[in-house]
This record gives sequence, C-alpha cells and structure tokens, in this order.
Amino acid sequence: MSWPKHVSQVALPMKDRFELPEGVIYLDGNSLGPLPKGVTARVAEMMADEWGGQLIKGWNACGWMAQPGRVGDQVGRIIGAPKGSVVMGDTLSLKVYQALSAALQMRPERKVILSDSGNFPTDLYMADGLVRHLDQGHELRVVAPEDVTAAMSDDIAAVMLTQVDYRTGRMHDMRAITEKAQAAGAVMIWDLAHSAGAVPVDLSGSNAEFAVGCTYKYLNGGPGAPAFIYVRPDLADEIDPALAGWLGHEAPFAFDLEYRPAPGIERMRVGTPPVLQMAALEEAMAIWDAVDMAELRAASLHLSELFIAEVEAACPDLTLASPRDGAQRGSQVSFRFEHGYAAMQALIARGVIGDFRAPDIMRFGFTPLYLDEADVRAAVAILAEILRDRLWDRPEYLARQRVT
Ligand SMILES: *Cc1c(COP(=O)(O)O)cnc(C)c1O
Repeated sequence: MSWPKHVSQVALPMKDRFELPEGVIYLDGNSLGPLPKGVTARVAEMMADEWGGQLIKGWNACGWMAQPGRVGDQVGRIIGAPKGSVVMGDTLSLKVYQALSAALQMRPERKVILSDSGNFPTDLYMADGLVRHLDQGHELRVVAPEDVTAAMSDDIAAVMLTQVDYRTGRMHDMRAITEKAQAAGAVMIWDLAHSAGAVPVDLSGSNAEFAVGCTYKYLNGGPGAPAFIYVRPDLADEIDPALAGWLGHEAPFAFDLEYRPAPGIERMRVGTPPVLQMAALEEAMAIWDAVDMAELRAASLHLSELFIAEVEAACPDLTLASPRDGAQRGSQVSFRFEHGYAAMQALIARGVIGDFRAPDIMRFGFTPLYLDEADVRAAVAILAEILRDRLWDRPEYLARQRVT
C-alpha cells in the first residue's frame, strides 16, 4: 500500500479538541461521536445565562429561534450545500418522512419508491408507513445496492438511498446515481447519516432534490442531537410540507387558524427546536472550521487501509465485509465473524470501542479527528489476542444487551 506524502503533514488528528477517556481507543464515532471540548462549558453557560437568566426573552435575545437555520448553515458547509438550504430539527426518521412525502407530491402520476436493502431500516419503515397511510397505491421497491441503477424505470417517483451503508461502509456514487434517477424522471433523496463529516459531499454538484442526515455520528453533536434536511433551493418554495407545524408557518406568531408554509427551507421546520441540544451541536460544529474535508478523507482512507492490512495479517478468522477499494467505502470498516458480538464485548472490556450489527458484523469507524496510526495498531493487537486465545468465549460477553 503506497500513500501520498502530504498525508503526514495534515493537522490531524486533533485529539486535544475532544474529551476522550484515558485508555480508550474509540472506533465508534460513526455511531455516536465523542464529546468535543468546549461543549460542556457552552451548554452550562447557555443554561445558566440564557435559560436561567433570560427566561423567555432568550427566544429573541439569544437567537434561539434562528438557531435551526444558523446551525443548518454550519452543516451545509460540510455537505456542499449553499447557505439557507439546510435546516435542523427533529430526528432523522422524521426528516426522511418529510423529504419522501414532498418527493411523492412532485410526481403524483408515479407510484414507486425505489430503495435498496443496504438502507437503514428506519428509512424503509418510514417509507412503508407513508405508503400505507397515503393509501394511494404507492409501492416501496427494495433492490440490492448493486442493482439500483439497473432498477431505474419510468414508474419511479422517488429514489431514496443512504449513501454509505451502515453495516459494510459501501458507498454509492451520489452524482452518477442522481443523474440516472433524474434521467428516469424520478426525484432523488440522499440520506447522508454516514457521510456528513465522514467523506467529502458535494450536494449542490450532485443536483439531488433532497438530502437528510443526523448529527450525532461523525458531526459529534451528542446523543439525541437534531437531524438536518436539505431541499434544493429552486424547489424549496414549491413543496407542500406533510408535517405542517407552526414553526414552519409563514407567520407563526400571527396564530392564524390556517397553515401557510414559510418561504424556502424554513417550511421544513415543525415545532419548538431542542435549544439545549442545538447549543451543544453548534459548539461541536466549530471544530469543522479547522478541517479540510479532502485531508480528512485522505487520513480516513489511510487509517482504514492500515486497519484492514493489520487485521488480515493477524486475525485469520475475520472476513472483510467492506469493499476493499477505498473509493467505494465510507469511513468505516467491517469484518464478519461468527462470534462477532462476543468478540466486540471482549474488545470493549479492554478499552477498544467499536460495535456490532446483526447477524455477524463487527464494525469499526475511523475518524481521523481523534485517531492515529498508533491507535489502529494497538486496537488490532488487542483484537488479535482476543481471537487467538478465544477470550470472547465467556458468559458475560455472550449475553446480548439491549443496545448493540
Ligand atoms: C443513524 C441512522 C438513522 C437514525 O435515525 P434517527 O431518527 O435519528 O434515530 C436513520 N437512517 C440512517 C441511514 C442512519 O444511519
């Protein structure tokens, strides 16, 4: 494996910007990012001075009401979206629903939603629920990820895909698939849950109509951090929001009895924003001002490739589940192992935190903001020992917990 020279010169990792517990190698930033330094103080100050001190005046005086759009612009910068095209709120599941319902309205004569079996279940569940409740004869068609392009046909209203597969890290080509979908007359929705903050994303360049994602994974916004939604600016004034909440109204404080959507992306807001969570996210996003996404990507590929090479040399029982070609992989690497759950528990007990996805996937996220080569080598050494000596084969590691 050769690696371009400039990688060693990047200002990554920036471990000092995170509160990482002593003795932990954190390979799960793809599931829940760690706590950035400054967030605790910012949230404490926000609670004491803003909530505590300003009470209800905070909505105006502290900019709470403008926060979803302000933070949306911070996220937009990471995903190649122009200012004013991204807004924060709710959970990703709800943002999927909003985007999909808007997309279906744009193609009333078509009845098919195309997705793939690598999608995260909640995206498919939300689509299925929407189809059932619309009761207009829509169909959710789910094909294998490699068959998506071939499945484009002129009955498809919307193509709804997650760019990076949460289990294997396999990455779709956003631009090429969007082009195919639009050539077939369909509307394109991208879920960027495992892309935002993980790989460079050029949303404007892709020309996709909608994108959604969460902020508690690679963006380190904290558990329960709000989701984001992007609507292509030329469409934002046209769509008719299915979740017609008062804060997406043109004039929420007129308290009209009739709904009129706000101009642009603001209509994708629903109700009262989670101000505390959003303060944490806003502070966490400050880190990204110092990050060049191309450098981050180069470092992520380097760490991932080192991990694959070391695991394959030291752990013969594990089989690579991710694409070997880095260009087709996000920022995570997965291996299959029959006793993957127990092996992951044994790893976690030794301070190496990854996670497990049924039925047999051991998943490792590589986040160059706070990981370096030494971490990767140390993690593999511990993993190899666990496998060689069957240290996973203990009752406390075999018993499944509620959250894997
Ligand atoms: C993490 C993830 C979700 C989670 O949705 P929430 O509503 O935030 O719980 C949804 N979709 C994808 C593709 C994900 O990776």
